[in-house]
Amino acid sequence: MSSFWSDGVEGLTPYVAGEQPKVGNLLKLNTNENPYGPSPRVIEAIRKAAGDGLKLYPDNESTQLRQAIARNYGLDAGQVFVGNGSDEVLAHIFNALFRHEGRTLLMPDITYSFYRTYCSLFRIPVQLVPLDDSFAIDPADYTAAHAAPPAGIIFANPNAPTGLSMPLPDIEAIAHANPETPVVIDEAYVDFGGESSLGLLDRCPNLVVVHTLSKSRSLAGMRVGYAMASAQIVDGINRVKDSFNSYPLDTLAQVAALAAIEDADYLEQTCQAVIQARNTLTRELEKLDFEVLPSHTNFVFARHPRHDAAQISAALRARNILVRHFRQARIEQFLRISVGTPQDCERLCKELSEIVR
Ligand SMILES: *Cc1c(COP(=O)(O)O)cnc(C)c1O
Repeated sequence: MSSFWSDGVEGLTPYVAGEQPKVGNLLKLNTNENPYGPSPRVIEAIRKAAGDGLKLYPDNESTQLRQAIARNYGLDAGQVFVGNGSDEVLAHIFNALFRHEGRTLLMPDITYSFYRTYCSLFRIPVQLVPLDDSFAIDPADYTAAHAAPPAGIIFANPNAPTGLSMPLPDIEAIAHANPETPVVIDEAYVDFGGESSLGLLDRCPNLVVVHTLSKSRSLAGMRVGYAMASAQIVDGINRVKDSFNSYPLDTLAQVAALAAIEDADYLEQTCQAVIQARNTLTRELEKLDFEVLPSHTNFVFARHPRHDAAQISAALRARNILVRHFRQARIEQFLRISVGTPQDCERLCKELSEIVR
């Protein structure tokens, strides 16, 4: 606390990221990084661009990258917004789309915790809607009539940290029931077996779909995310971005992301490997009596009927394995475990079998 801080800084609740310790032989299964690393074409593109050209400012509109994303999904480049990680893209979305006097944002009580941080930063009133008893989002909670249209609706699909998916007809129903409300679907994990709502963009002018290159494309260190929506919505997000930082993506990030988007085969192969490892991991955890929610992501969300989650997490840590544990009502007995390579999963299960024996 300092008297130099602006009003409101003391009241902020910053997001707490999973730890990134530098210890040898550490198995990191706590931040949903992809074990396979980026496409070799990404490394090659960065090498080529790492030269004298870095003296120049990057293309402030990331034109080639936005065109490649647009081509990949059958959109116009004007429908694509890119930013320094999807966290930044989401921050600009909260700022540009969710601040409406006298209106309240709707989102699940259990979802990506950064959303609440942005609400506190931008002073957006929020109503948390409880997940149902099976930890799913009930679409009826979002299609019911409200006194004033919600300022916005946001959730991740598949949701985090539950890993559960909402079917596309439900998303379409939510968008149609709230025509005056921007409906933002964070598809950070969609490439691991989820269904993208991008196909609804034509029919739902209020829909915004957010992707990241951090998970399925294994570029968490590069910080690139993007949003797709109508050109008018993207225009609004751009106005906010250009009032804050017109060069959010550096030259290397732009060429790396472009190469990653263009290497569809590598994406497919590595995602399939993660999906297979996830299915095996789920079966092995169930053999150890864990209850595992059905996941469409690169993590599993699991609890044990007889062992305390915080204690399992601490015991794993003592054995150099990090998983994520949230001290939050309703989910404090769950662990979120990122899916590693088959060898990573084996090592995890071997240690777990000793811990819960
Ligand atoms: C990981 C994650 C993000 C953040 O991704 P970055 O692009 O690395 O900032 C956003 N939303 C969800 C749901 C995530 O899990």
